[in-house]
Amino acid sequence: MKIHEYQGSALLAEYGIPTSVSELAQTPQEAADIARRFGSNVVVKAQVLTGGRGKAGGVKLAHSPEEAFQCAEEILALQIKGIPVTKLLIAKSVDILQEYYLGVAVDRTMKQAVIMISAAGGVDIEDLARNDPEKILKFYVNPFQGLQEDRLRQVVASVFIDPGLCAQAFDTVMKMYRLFLEKDCSLVEINPYVKTKASALIALDAKINFDDNGLFKHPEIEALRSPEEFSPDEIRAKDAGLSFVNLDGNIGCIVNGAGLAMATMDVIKLFGGEPANFLDVGGSSNPNKVLLALDIITSNKNVKAVLINIFGGITRCDDVANGILMAVRKLDIKLPLVIRMIGTREAEGREILVNAGYVVADDMEAAVKKVVALI
Ligand code: GDP
Ligand code: MN
Repeated sequence: MKIHEYQGSALLAEYGIPTSVSELAQTPQEAADIARRFGSNVVVKAQVLTGGRGKAGGVKLAHSPEEAFQCAEEILALQIKGIPVTKLLIAKSVDILQEYYLGVAVDRTMKQAVIMISAAGGVDIEDLARNDPEKILKFYVNPFQGLQEDRLRQVVASVFIDPGLCAQAFDTVMKMYRLFLEKDCSLVEINPYVKTKASALIALDAKINFDDNGLFKHPEIEALRSPEEFSPDEIRAKDAGLSFVNLDGNIGCIVNGAGLAMATMDVIKLFGGEPANFLDVGGSSNPNKVLLALDIITSNKNVKAVLINIFGGITRCDDVANGILMAVRKLDIKLPLVIRMIGTREAEGREILVNAGYVVADDMEAAVKKVVALI
Protein backbone atom coordinates (compact mmCIF):
# COMPACT_ATOMS: atom_id res chain seq x y z
CA MET A 1 0.00 0.00 0.00
CA LYS A 2 1.18 3.49 -0.84
CA ILE A 3 0.50 6.63 1.14
CA HIS A 4 0.73 10.31 0.25
CA GLU A 5 3.73 12.49 1.04
CA TYR A 6 1.81 14.43 3.70
CA GLN A 7 0.91 11.19 5.48
CA GLY A 8 4.49 9.92 5.16
CA SER A 9 5.89 13.19 6.53
CA ALA A 10 3.59 12.90 9.52
CA LEU A 11 4.90 9.37 10.16
CA LEU A 12 8.52 10.53 9.89
CA ALA A 13 7.73 13.32 12.35
CA GLU A 14 6.08 10.80 14.69
CA TYR A 15 9.38 8.92 14.73
CA GLY A 16 11.26 12.10 15.59
CA ILE A 17 12.72 12.83 12.14
CA PRO A 18 12.93 16.56 11.33
CA THR A 19 10.58 17.53 8.49
CA SER A 20 9.54 20.88 7.04
CA VAL A 21 6.49 22.74 8.39
CA SER A 22 3.54 22.08 6.11
CA GLU A 23 -0.23 22.00 5.77
CA LEU A 24 -2.69 20.45 3.37
CA ALA A 25 -4.79 22.58 0.97
CA GLN A 26 -7.50 21.66 -1.49
CA THR A 27 -8.16 25.03 -3.15
CA PRO A 28 -5.98 27.94 -4.37
CA GLN A 29 -7.52 30.16 -1.66
CA GLU A 30 -6.53 27.70 1.08
CA ALA A 31 -3.02 27.58 -0.38
CA ALA A 32 -2.76 31.39 -0.31
CA ASP A 33 -4.12 31.55 3.26
CA ILE A 34 -1.55 29.02 4.48
CA ALA A 35 1.27 30.90 2.71
CA ARG A 36 0.13 34.15 4.37
CA ARG A 37 0.05 32.48 7.79
CA PHE A 38 3.53 30.96 7.26
CA GLY A 39 4.82 34.42 6.27
CA SER A 40 7.55 32.89 4.10
CA ASN A 41 8.18 31.45 0.66
CA VAL A 42 6.32 28.18 0.26
CA VAL A 43 6.59 25.11 -1.92
CA VAL A 44 3.29 23.96 -3.41
CA LYS A 45 3.32 20.18 -3.95
CA ALA A 46 0.83 17.91 -5.67
CA GLN A 47 -0.22 14.95 -3.52
CA VAL A 48 -0.48 12.00 -5.91
CA LEU A 49 0.41 8.36 -5.38
CA THR A 50 3.07 8.28 -8.09
CA GLY A 51 6.68 9.32 -8.44
CA GLY A 52 8.26 12.01 -10.62
CA ARG A 53 5.86 14.74 -9.66
CA GLY A 54 8.62 17.35 -9.69
CA LYS A 55 9.40 16.65 -13.35
CA ALA A 56 5.69 16.75 -14.22
CA GLY A 57 5.36 20.31 -12.86
CA GLY A 58 3.75 19.19 -9.61
CA VAL A 59 6.22 20.99 -7.29
CA LYS A 60 6.46 24.79 -7.45
CA LEU A 61 8.09 27.51 -5.36
CA ALA A 62 5.94 30.56 -4.50
CA HIS A 63 7.31 33.84 -3.14
CA SER A 64 4.00 35.35 -2.00
CA PRO A 65 0.45 34.30 -1.08
CA GLU A 66 -0.67 35.52 -4.53
CA GLU A 67 1.92 33.34 -6.21
CA ALA A 68 0.91 30.41 -3.99
CA PHE A 69 -2.66 30.92 -5.23
CA GLN A 70 -1.48 30.84 -8.83
CA CYS A 71 0.80 27.79 -8.38
CA ALA A 72 -2.03 25.96 -6.63
CA GLU A 73 -4.39 26.76 -9.49
CA GLU A 74 -1.90 25.44 -12.05
CA ILE A 75 -1.07 22.27 -10.14
CA LEU A 76 -4.72 21.46 -9.38
CA ALA A 77 -5.35 21.54 -13.15
CA LEU A 78 -2.66 18.89 -13.79
CA GLN A 79 -3.00 15.19 -14.36
CA ILE A 80 0.18 13.45 -13.28
CA LYS A 81 0.58 10.10 -15.05
CA GLY A 82 -3.18 10.16 -15.58
CA ILE A 83 -3.98 10.94 -11.95
CA PRO A 84 -5.89 14.19 -11.31
CA VAL A 85 -4.49 16.35 -8.49
CA THR A 86 -6.99 17.10 -5.73
CA LYS A 87 -4.76 17.77 -2.72
CA LEU A 88 -1.74 20.02 -2.25
CA LEU A 89 0.86 20.15 0.44
CA ILE A 90 1.96 23.70 1.23
CA ALA A 91 5.39 23.57 2.86
CA LYS A 92 7.51 26.37 4.31
CA SER A 93 10.35 26.69 1.82
CA VAL A 94 13.80 25.70 3.02
CA ASP A 95 17.11 27.15 1.76
CA ILE A 96 18.96 24.12 0.45
CA LEU A 97 22.76 23.77 0.54
CA GLN A 98 22.86 20.15 -0.52
CA GLU A 99 20.39 17.36 -1.34
CA TYR A 100 20.98 13.80 -0.15
CA TYR A 101 19.06 10.56 -0.57
CA LEU A 102 18.14 8.14 2.24
CA GLY A 103 16.17 4.94 1.75
CA VAL A 104 15.32 1.65 3.44
CA ALA A 105 13.93 -1.11 1.23
CA VAL A 106 13.72 -4.87 0.84
CA ASP A 107 16.36 -6.37 -1.43
CA ARG A 108 14.64 -9.48 -2.75
CA THR A 109 17.79 -10.98 -4.23
CA MET A 110 19.79 -10.60 -1.02
CA LYS A 111 16.72 -11.45 1.11
CA GLN A 112 17.70 -8.63 3.44
CA ALA A 113 16.69 -5.11 4.25
CA VAL A 114 18.94 -2.59 2.54
CA ILE A 115 19.74 0.93 3.71
CA MET A 116 20.72 3.23 0.84
CA ILE A 117 22.56 6.51 1.25
CA SER A 118 23.65 8.95 -1.44
CA ALA A 119 25.08 12.45 -1.61
CA ALA A 120 23.43 12.78 -5.03
CA GLY A 121 19.85 13.25 -3.80
CA GLY A 122 17.01 15.20 -5.34
CA VAL A 123 17.15 13.27 -8.60
CA ASP A 124 15.22 10.20 -9.61
CA ILE A 125 16.84 7.35 -7.68
CA GLU A 126 16.00 4.79 -10.38
CA ASP A 127 17.95 6.93 -12.90
CA LEU A 128 20.83 7.26 -10.47
CA ALA A 129 20.89 3.50 -9.86
CA ARG A 130 21.00 2.92 -13.62
CA ASN A 131 23.56 5.56 -14.60
CA ASP A 132 25.75 6.10 -11.52
CA PRO A 133 25.22 3.09 -9.26
CA GLU A 134 28.51 3.78 -7.44
CA LYS A 135 26.98 7.00 -6.08
CA ILE A 136 24.57 4.98 -3.92
CA LEU A 137 26.04 3.33 -0.84
CA LYS A 138 24.22 0.19 0.24
CA PHE A 139 24.22 -1.26 3.72
CA TYR A 140 22.55 -4.65 4.16
CA VAL A 141 20.96 -5.77 7.40
CA ASN A 142 21.32 -9.48 8.02
CA PRO A 143 18.04 -10.51 9.66
CA PHE A 144 19.82 -12.99 11.96
CA GLN A 145 22.46 -10.56 13.16
CA GLY A 146 20.26 -7.47 13.26
CA LEU A 147 21.51 -4.00 12.47
CA GLN A 148 25.18 -3.50 13.32
CA GLU A 149 25.19 0.10 14.44
CA ASP A 150 28.94 0.69 14.43
CA ARG A 151 29.29 -0.46 10.84
CA LEU A 152 26.29 1.62 9.79
CA ARG A 153 27.79 4.67 11.52
CA GLN A 154 30.95 4.27 9.42
CA VAL A 155 28.92 4.14 6.21
CA VAL A 156 26.95 7.24 7.20
CA ALA A 157 30.19 9.02 8.11
CA SER A 158 31.63 8.33 4.66
CA VAL A 159 28.81 10.42 3.12
CA PHE A 160 28.27 12.97 5.92
CA ILE A 161 31.89 13.89 6.67
CA ASP A 162 31.16 16.64 9.19
CA PRO A 163 30.70 14.97 12.63
CA GLY A 164 27.71 17.17 13.49
CA LEU A 165 25.93 16.24 10.26
CA CYS A 166 26.92 12.59 10.63
CA ALA A 167 25.28 12.41 14.06
CA GLN A 168 22.03 13.87 12.70
CA ALA A 169 22.00 11.64 9.64
CA PHE A 170 22.79 8.51 11.67
CA ASP A 171 19.94 9.34 14.04
CA THR A 172 17.55 9.78 11.09
CA VAL A 173 18.61 6.53 9.42
CA MET A 174 18.15 4.60 12.67
CA LYS A 175 14.65 6.08 13.06
CA MET A 176 13.79 5.25 9.44
CA TYR A 177 14.90 1.67 10.01
CA ARG A 178 12.80 1.41 13.19
CA LEU A 179 9.78 2.75 11.29
CA PHE A 180 10.48 0.29 8.45
CA LEU A 181 10.49 -2.67 10.87
CA GLU A 182 7.70 -1.64 13.22
CA LYS A 183 5.19 -0.74 10.51
CA ASP A 184 6.08 -3.57 8.09
CA CYS A 185 7.12 -1.23 5.32
CA SER A 186 8.46 -2.28 1.95
CA LEU A 187 10.00 1.17 1.41
CA VAL A 188 10.86 4.22 3.51
CA GLU A 189 12.47 6.88 1.34
CA ILE A 190 13.52 10.48 1.95
CA ASN A 191 14.52 12.23 -1.28
CA PRO A 192 15.70 14.88 -0.85
CA TYR A 193 17.10 14.84 2.67
CA VAL A 194 18.61 18.33 2.72
CA LYS A 195 21.29 20.31 4.47
CA THR A 196 20.03 23.81 5.28
CA LYS A 197 22.01 27.05 5.73
CA ALA A 198 21.84 26.47 9.47
CA SER A 199 23.59 23.08 8.95
CA ALA A 200 20.48 21.18 9.97
CA LEU A 201 19.41 18.09 8.04
CA ILE A 202 15.71 17.75 7.29
CA ALA A 203 13.41 15.55 5.23
CA LEU A 204 11.77 17.47 2.36
CA ASP A 205 9.87 14.54 0.88
CA ALA A 206 8.56 11.20 2.15
CA LYS A 207 7.72 8.07 0.22
CA ILE A 208 6.53 5.17 2.32
CA ASN A 209 5.08 1.88 1.05
CA PHE A 210 3.73 -0.95 3.19
CA ASP A 211 3.69 -4.71 2.80
CA ASP A 212 -0.02 -5.50 2.30
CA ASN A 213 0.46 -8.78 4.16
CA GLY A 214 1.48 -6.90 7.29
CA LEU A 215 -1.38 -4.40 7.26
CA PHE A 216 -3.66 -6.47 9.47
CA LYS A 217 -1.28 -5.69 12.34
CA HIS A 218 -1.56 -1.94 11.78
CA PRO A 219 -5.13 -0.60 11.66
CA GLU A 220 -3.74 2.93 12.05
CA ILE A 221 -1.84 2.46 8.78
CA GLU A 222 -4.76 0.78 7.00
CA ALA A 223 -6.78 3.89 7.92
CA LEU A 224 -4.44 5.96 5.72
CA ARG A 225 -5.48 4.10 2.58
CA SER A 226 -6.59 6.35 -0.27
CA PRO A 227 -9.31 5.14 -2.63
CA GLU A 228 -7.35 6.61 -5.57
CA GLU A 229 -4.53 4.10 -4.99
CA PHE A 230 -6.39 1.94 -7.49
CA SER A 231 -7.94 3.00 -10.79
CA PRO A 232 -11.74 2.60 -11.12
CA ASP A 233 -11.02 -0.47 -13.30
CA GLU A 234 -8.84 -2.03 -10.66
CA ILE A 235 -11.52 -1.45 -8.00
CA ARG A 236 -14.23 -3.05 -10.19
CA ALA A 237 -12.00 -6.04 -10.85
CA LYS A 238 -11.10 -6.38 -7.19
CA ASP A 239 -14.79 -6.34 -6.15
CA ALA A 240 -15.44 -9.18 -8.63
CA GLY A 241 -12.54 -11.27 -7.32
CA LEU A 242 -10.29 -10.75 -10.36
CA SER A 243 -6.60 -9.93 -9.86
CA PHE A 244 -6.08 -7.04 -12.24
CA VAL A 245 -3.32 -4.47 -12.75
CA ASN A 246 -3.35 -1.78 -15.44
CA LEU A 247 -0.20 -1.52 -17.59
CA ASP A 248 0.91 0.77 -20.42
CA GLY A 249 0.74 -1.54 -23.47
CA ASN A 250 -1.96 -2.28 -26.06
CA ILE A 251 -2.55 -6.05 -25.82
CA GLY A 252 -5.36 -6.87 -23.41
CA CYS A 253 -4.79 -10.16 -21.56
CA ILE A 254 -7.29 -12.58 -20.06
CA VAL A 255 -5.57 -15.48 -18.41
CA ASN A 256 -6.45 -17.96 -15.70
CA GLY A 257 -3.91 -18.39 -12.94
CA ALA A 258 -1.39 -15.81 -11.75
CA GLY A 259 1.59 -17.85 -12.91
CA LEU A 260 0.24 -18.32 -16.43
CA ALA A 261 -0.72 -14.62 -16.50
CA MET A 262 2.89 -13.66 -15.69
CA ALA A 263 4.27 -16.15 -18.22
CA THR A 264 1.89 -14.80 -20.86
CA MET A 265 3.10 -11.25 -20.27
CA ASP A 266 6.71 -12.45 -20.54
CA VAL A 267 6.02 -14.22 -23.83
CA ILE A 268 4.24 -11.14 -25.22
CA LYS A 269 7.32 -9.08 -24.37
CA LEU A 270 9.60 -11.75 -25.85
CA PHE A 271 7.85 -11.41 -29.20
CA GLY A 272 7.98 -7.62 -29.13
CA GLY A 273 4.49 -6.81 -27.81
CA GLU A 274 3.38 -4.78 -24.80
CA PRO A 275 0.67 -6.09 -22.43
CA ALA A 276 -2.07 -3.60 -21.46
CA ASN A 277 -2.78 -5.38 -18.22
CA PHE A 278 -2.20 -8.29 -15.93
CA LEU A 279 -5.41 -10.21 -15.36
CA ASP A 280 -6.04 -13.47 -13.58
CA VAL A 281 -9.66 -14.56 -13.98
CA GLY A 282 -9.10 -17.17 -11.30
CA GLY A 283 -9.75 -20.87 -11.06
CA SER A 284 -13.51 -20.98 -11.43
CA SER A 285 -15.13 -20.98 -14.86
CA ASN A 286 -17.86 -18.48 -14.22
CA PRO A 287 -18.82 -17.01 -17.64
CA ASN A 288 -19.71 -13.75 -15.89
CA LYS A 289 -16.08 -13.29 -14.88
CA VAL A 290 -15.05 -13.54 -18.52
CA LEU A 291 -17.75 -10.98 -19.37
CA LEU A 292 -16.54 -8.53 -16.73
CA ALA A 293 -12.90 -9.09 -17.68
CA LEU A 294 -13.62 -8.32 -21.34
CA ASP A 295 -15.71 -5.31 -20.33
CA ILE A 296 -12.86 -3.85 -18.24
CA ILE A 297 -10.19 -4.60 -20.84
CA THR A 298 -12.08 -3.31 -23.88
CA SER A 299 -13.00 -0.07 -22.11
CA ASN A 300 -9.27 0.79 -22.09
CA LYS A 301 -8.81 2.91 -25.23
CA ASN A 302 -5.18 1.80 -25.66
CA VAL A 303 -6.17 -1.82 -26.20
CA LYS A 304 -5.96 -2.85 -29.87
CA ALA A 305 -6.38 -6.63 -29.52
CA VAL A 306 -7.14 -9.13 -26.77
CA LEU A 307 -5.29 -12.34 -26.02
CA ILE A 308 -7.21 -14.99 -24.12
CA ASN A 309 -4.98 -17.72 -22.74
CA ILE A 310 -6.73 -20.44 -20.75
CA PHE A 311 -5.34 -23.54 -19.17
CA GLY A 312 -8.35 -25.63 -18.21
CA GLY A 313 -7.95 -27.44 -14.93
CA ILE A 314 -10.87 -26.75 -12.63
CA THR A 315 -11.71 -24.12 -15.23
CA ARG A 316 -13.64 -25.72 -18.08
CA CYS A 317 -12.79 -24.56 -21.59
CA ASP A 318 -16.42 -24.82 -22.75
CA ASP A 319 -17.55 -22.49 -19.95
CA VAL A 320 -14.91 -19.96 -20.94
CA ALA A 321 -15.91 -20.28 -24.62
CA ASN A 322 -19.53 -19.57 -23.70
CA GLY A 323 -18.41 -16.61 -21.58
CA ILE A 324 -16.48 -15.19 -24.53
CA LEU A 325 -19.45 -15.49 -26.90
CA MET A 326 -21.80 -13.97 -24.33
CA ALA A 327 -19.41 -11.06 -23.77
CA VAL A 328 -18.91 -10.37 -27.49
CA ARG A 329 -22.70 -10.27 -27.93
CA LYS A 330 -23.49 -8.15 -24.87
CA LEU A 331 -20.59 -5.76 -25.19
CA ASP A 332 -20.57 -5.56 -28.99
CA ILE A 333 -16.80 -6.11 -29.08
CA LYS A 334 -15.14 -5.12 -32.35
CA LEU A 335 -11.53 -5.74 -31.33
CA PRO A 336 -9.77 -8.85 -32.61
CA LEU A 337 -9.64 -11.69 -30.08
CA VAL A 338 -6.88 -14.25 -30.19
CA ILE A 339 -7.72 -17.35 -28.20
CA ARG A 340 -5.65 -20.24 -27.01
CA MET A 341 -7.20 -22.84 -24.75
CA ILE A 342 -6.06 -26.20 -23.55
CA GLY A 343 -7.11 -28.70 -20.89
CA THR A 344 -10.45 -29.70 -19.41
CA ARG A 345 -13.22 -29.88 -22.06
CA GLU A 346 -10.87 -28.39 -24.65
CA ALA A 347 -12.56 -30.11 -27.61
CA GLU A 348 -16.01 -28.81 -26.55
CA GLY A 349 -14.65 -25.30 -26.02
CA ARG A 350 -12.93 -25.23 -29.40
CA GLU A 351 -16.06 -26.46 -31.11
CA ILE A 352 -18.17 -23.69 -29.58
CA LEU A 353 -15.67 -21.06 -30.73
CA VAL A 354 -15.00 -22.50 -34.18
CA ASN A 355 -18.76 -22.72 -34.83
CA ALA A 356 -18.98 -19.04 -33.96
CA GLY A 357 -16.26 -18.21 -36.49
CA TYR A 358 -13.23 -17.94 -34.23
CA VAL A 359 -9.81 -19.42 -34.82
CA VAL A 360 -8.31 -21.09 -31.78
CA ALA A 361 -4.52 -21.12 -31.71
CA ASP A 362 -2.72 -24.42 -31.28
CA ASP A 363 -0.28 -23.27 -28.64
CA MET A 364 0.77 -20.28 -26.60
CA GLU A 365 3.64 -19.22 -28.86
CA ALA A 366 1.42 -19.24 -31.97
CA ALA A 367 -1.26 -17.24 -30.14
CA VAL A 368 1.17 -14.62 -28.89
CA LYS A 369 2.89 -14.25 -32.29
CA LYS A 370 -0.52 -13.82 -33.87
CA VAL A 371 -1.70 -11.12 -31.47
CA VAL A 372 1.60 -9.23 -31.77
CA ALA A 373 1.32 -9.39 -35.58
CA LEU A 374 -2.24 -8.01 -35.38
CA ILE A 375 -1.02 -4.99 -33.42
P1 GDP B 1 9.45 14.76 -6.28
O1 GDP B 1 10.09 15.26 -7.53
O2 GDP B 1 8.07 14.29 -6.52
O3 GDP B 1 10.26 13.74 -5.58
O4 GDP B 1 9.27 16.02 -5.30
P2 GDP B 1 10.15 16.56 -4.08
O5 GDP B 1 9.26 16.86 -2.95
O6 GDP B 1 11.29 15.65 -3.78
O7 GDP B 1 10.72 17.94 -4.63
C1 GDP B 1 11.47 18.01 -5.83
C2 GDP B 1 12.55 19.06 -5.69
O8 GDP B 1 11.98 20.33 -5.39
C3 GDP B 1 13.54 18.81 -4.57
O9 GDP B 1 14.54 17.90 -4.94
C4 GDP B 1 14.09 20.20 -4.33
O10 GDP B 1 15.12 20.50 -5.25
C5 GDP B 1 12.89 21.10 -4.62
N1 GDP B 1 12.28 21.50 -3.34
C6 GDP B 1 11.39 20.83 -2.59
N2 GDP B 1 11.11 21.50 -1.44
C7 GDP B 1 11.88 22.64 -1.47
C8 GDP B 1 12.08 23.74 -0.57
O11 GDP B 1 11.50 23.83 0.52
N3 GDP B 1 12.94 24.71 -0.97
C9 GDP B 1 13.62 24.67 -2.15
N4 GDP B 1 14.44 25.65 -2.46
N5 GDP B 1 13.46 23.65 -3.01
C10 GDP B 1 12.63 22.64 -2.68
MN1 MN C 1 11.33 13.49 -3.94
